[in-house]
Amino acid sequence: MAFDEMYQEIIRDHYKHPRNKKPLSHLKAVENPSCGDSVKVELEGDSQHIKTVFFDGSGCSISMCSASMMTDLLTGKTVEEAKAIVAQFLGVIRGEKPADSLDELGDLAALKGVIELPVRVKCATLAWHAVEQALQKA
Ligand code: ZN
Repeated sequence: MAFDEMYQEIIRDHYKHPRNKKPLSHLKAVENPSCGDSVKVELEGDSQHIKTVFFDGSGCSISMCSASMMTDLLTGKTVEEAKAIVAQFLGVIRGEKPADSLDELGDLAALKGVIELPVRVKCATLAWHAVEQALQKA
């Protein structure tokens, strides 16, 4: 299977079977008006460790699969580790770090193609900005 097809498959899988998704009606959503995406993020754990990251929301496949991948990746991490992963992902998206450094972040490597599509960058980063805010409160 070509890399592109493999990445498409990973994106489709997260979109069809989102990880750690549950209704979070008590939270305020982070929005991406240019696409209509909306994401909420909740951290379960204590001030140092994240037990589970949950998300809720609606939007395009890129925004939803990026949210699903984010919850998968940050669940079970310490708050410090989670902040480092968020900074790494956002750094790649902003072009400050090489795209290949996403290979260290599991399924997120599938979003490498998005970096070349500026209109989709807001979709891909929405859940990450939401979790960044949640981590600041942790
Ligand atoms: Zn979108």
